[in-house]
Amino acid sequence: MKTFEGKTALVTGSSRGIGRSVALRLGQEGARVAVHYRSNEAAAKEVVAAIDAAGGSAFTIQAELGVPGDAEALFDQFDRIADGLDILVNNVGAEPAEIGIGETTEGGFDAVFAVNVKAPFFVTKQAMSRLRDGGRIVNISSGISRSASSQPEYVTYAMAKSGLDTLTAALAKQLGPRGITVNTVAPGLVETEPTAAKLFSEEARQFAASLACLGRLGQPEDIAAVVAFLASADGGWVTGQWLDASGGMLL
Ligand code: NDP
Repeated sequence: MKTFEGKTALVTGSSRGIGRSVALRLGQEGARVAVHYRSNEAAAKEVVAAIDAAGGSAFTIQAELGVPGDAEALFDQFDRIADGLDILVNNVGAEPAEIGIGETTEGGFDAVFAVNVKAPFFVTKQAMSRLRDGGRIVNISSGISRSASSQPEYVTYAMAKSGLDTLTAALAKQLGPRGITVNTVAPGLVETEPTAAKLFSEEARQFAASLACLGRLGQPEDIAAVVAFLASADGGWVTGQWLDASGGMLL
């Protein structure tokens, strides 16, 4: 029997990047996966096709997160296709468009908090009544939530991800009696589109890779492996934790 057979998972932002790898991993290991996306329907359908091809099952749901009514819109679609939830992965997040406190406007601040804190808060609120006992919540934070001083220009993003970390701890306590675990996974630098946009030269890539003890950039599959452990039965005695998945970048 596959690890996640009989389980239904929702992975926000799983058309690309880390979320895509998480969806593929859970799907390949037997979960029925809701592949959520914002605008790139073709990419989301490609993820569904890959899960189908691996013998799994998946479907797409579209919703913009970080806007009023986002969580309700997401679960309206989810409920039309699925009945209940076992694994929620709050993966959607976004770095600030405005860099540094001096450049940050009130609107820019609100936008960062809307996507990185408010959206997962209300997605989780909606998920709670749908999650079956023994379920799993995994929040994708960032190493920067515990090392804001290393990149002070990302202050709003670091603050917002810290808020998500706090949600993890509070919910772990609240949902523990139902056997539901809640954990944070904190990646370092992972090779996805936003990272590629920042590491535009080979020299920059090599420097970033050298920051990790393991001497390379993270891959989306590295993060998916950690999420899969936390979502599995084997991860069932771990809750309320912040797992550094940065290859030792923060040491
Ligand atoms: P990507 O930009 O590669 O993927 C983003 C995904 O989220 C896509 O599926 C996209 O949908 C969806 N998405 C983005 N914004 C919204 C929105 N406002 N509403 C709904 N869906 C949205 O991201 P990454 O894989 O790089 O990052 C994933 C998570 O990991 C984020 O929380 C990020 O903060 C965190 N992280 C990433 C690191 C890295 O180095 N990459 C490091 C540390 C943390 P669509 O395809 O339709 O646009």
